[in-house]
Amino acid sequence: MTDAPTPQWTARTVTCPACGQPARYAADNPWRPFCSARCKQLDLGAWASEAYRVPDPTPPAPPDDVPQH
Ligand SMILES: [Zn+2]
Repeated sequence: MTDAPTPQWTARTVTCPACGQPARYAADNPWRPFCSARCKQLDLGAWASEAYRVPDPTPPAPPDDVPQH
């Protein structure tokens, strides 16, 4: 066992995925990698609505007016 100190986060600046502005990526930014709570909400909204929508696995019902012999 070593008693090496817990590595501290190195604060750095990243690009906010939502607005493209510089965002502080550090332990004191709870919204990382976003720049703000608003941007995080925007991204979550996109995620939930359509950007990452899961396709409906159920195929459309076949027409039942096709003669079956
Ligand atoms: Zn942002």
